[in-house]
Amino acid sequence: MTPERNHIAIVGAGLAGALLAILLARKGWRVDVYEKRGDPRVRGYAGGRSINLALAERGRHALQQAGAEAAVMAHAVMMRGRMVHFTDGSQQLQRYGRDDSEVIWSVHRGDLNITLLDLAERAGAAVHFDRRLDSIDFDARRARFVDDRDDSACEVTFRTLVGADGAGSALRAAMQRETDLGERVETLDHSYKELEIPPTPDGGFRIEPNALHIWPRGDYMCIALPNDERTFTVTLFMPNHGSPGFDTVRTPADARALFARDFADALPLIPDLEADWARNPAGTLATLYLDRWHLDDRAVLIGDAAHAMVPFHGQGMNCAFEDCVALADRLEAEASPAEAFAAFAAERRPNAAAIQHMALENYREMRDRVDDADYLLQRQLELE
Ligand code: FAD
Repeated sequence: MTPERNHIAIVGAGLAGALLAILLARKGWRVDVYEKRGDPRVRGYAGGRSINLALAERGRHALQQAGAEAAVMAHAVMMRGRMVHFTDGSQQLQRYGRDDSEVIWSVHRGDLNITLLDLAERAGAAVHFDRRLDSIDFDARRARFVDDRDDSACEVTFRTLVGADGAGSALRAAMQRETDLGERVETLDHSYKELEIPPTPDGGFRIEPNALHIWPRGDYMCIALPNDERTFTVTLFMPNHGSPGFDTVRTPADARALFARDFADALPLIPDLEADWARNPAGTLATLYLDRWHLDDRAVLIGDAAHAMVPFHGQGMNCAFEDCVALADRLEAEASPAEAFAAFAAERRPNAAAIQHMALENYREMRDRVDDADYLLQRQLELE
C-alpha cells in the first residue's frame, strides 16, 4: 500500500532527524522516523562523539520554530568568548561580541537529542528504534531496515524519504547507486580525542564556566566546553602524523607527557587523563561535498548526510537545524516533494558550502592565531 500524500519517512533520529520530525508533525504531516540505535531514554545515550556542542543563534532560531528552545536552553551554559590559555599559564578572555547579547551556548548532545525525541513524539511523530536502513528499492519505493540486536529485518513502503542519517549516510550511498550525486570527501590530516575535566569536590566548575577554553599551540590545540553538570569536555585536535601527532603520541603515558609539556595548566584538571585516553578512540574529521542532494521526489538529504564539515566553526548542528526549517517550509510551500527538494537544495547548498569553507579556515585561526599579538590588536579595534 502506498502511503498517503502527506506521509514522510525520516532515516536517522539524531539531531536533524528529530528536529525535522517535530517541525513536520506540528504542521500536520504523518511522520515515521527510523533510527539504527536503541532508544536513548531506555538504554542511555550512545552518541559516541562530541559530548557537547556550541549552539549559536542560527540553531536557536530553528529550535524556537519547533517550540524546543525553552527546554534546550534550560540546560545550556553560556559562553561569552574564547578563554585563551597561553604557554606561560596566563589566560585572556576574547569576547565574541561587545556584550552578553552576542554569545554562544554549550549544550549536551545526549540531553539535546532526548529533548528533541520527546517533543517529536509529543507532536505525533512515530520513532522506530533499532531500525538500521539496510537497502532500498527506489522503483518499488520499499526500504529494508535491520535490527542489529538479532539481525531481524522489516520492509517499509515509502512515498518519500529524508536522509538525516549523518556523515556515513546509508541513504546517500543508496541514492548514489541510482544517480551520480557528485560526491567528494576531503579528509583532514588531523583527528581528535575527548577527555574530561570533572567538577571540584564540592560540585563546582574547575575553570571559568562561561567561556570556550582554547589552548592554541600552532599545529595543534585543546579546547574545553562546559557542561551543565559542572564538567568540561576537553578535545585535543592534533595531526595524524608528526611530532606531536597521533602516530607518535600513542599510549596514555605519551599523552601525559604531551600535556605536561604543552598544556601544563590543563593537566591537573584532568585526573583521569590516562583512562580517558585509553577509552576514547581518536575521531576522524572530513568535509563532504555533493553536487546533488535529492533524487526526484523520492529522497533528499539533510544535515551531515548532505554536508558534513569539520567542527572548527561549531556550525554543523546549527547548519543542520537550519536545513530542517528550510525543508519543512519548502514542503509546505511547493506543489510537490520534487519541487520542494529542488528549492530546498538550491537555497541551502550555497550556505552549507560557505560554512564548510569557514570551518576549515577557522581551524588555522583557533590553533595558530588567537594568541598572536597582531591578531589580538585587530580584534580589539574591530570591537571598539
Ligand atoms: P547525526 O547527529 O550524526 O545523526 C545521525 C543519526 O542517524 C544518528 O542518530 C545515527 O545513529 C543515525 N543513523 C546512522 N546511520 C543510520 C542508518 N543506516 N539507519 C538509521 N539510522 C542511522 N556542530 C555544532 O553546531 N556545534 C559544535 O560545537 C559542534 N562540535 C562538534 C565537535 C565534533 C568533535 C564533531 C565531530 C562534530 C561537531 N559538530 C558541531 C557537528 C555536529 O555534531 C553535526 O553537524 C550534527 O550532529 C549533525 O546532525 P545530523 O542529525 O545530521 O547527524
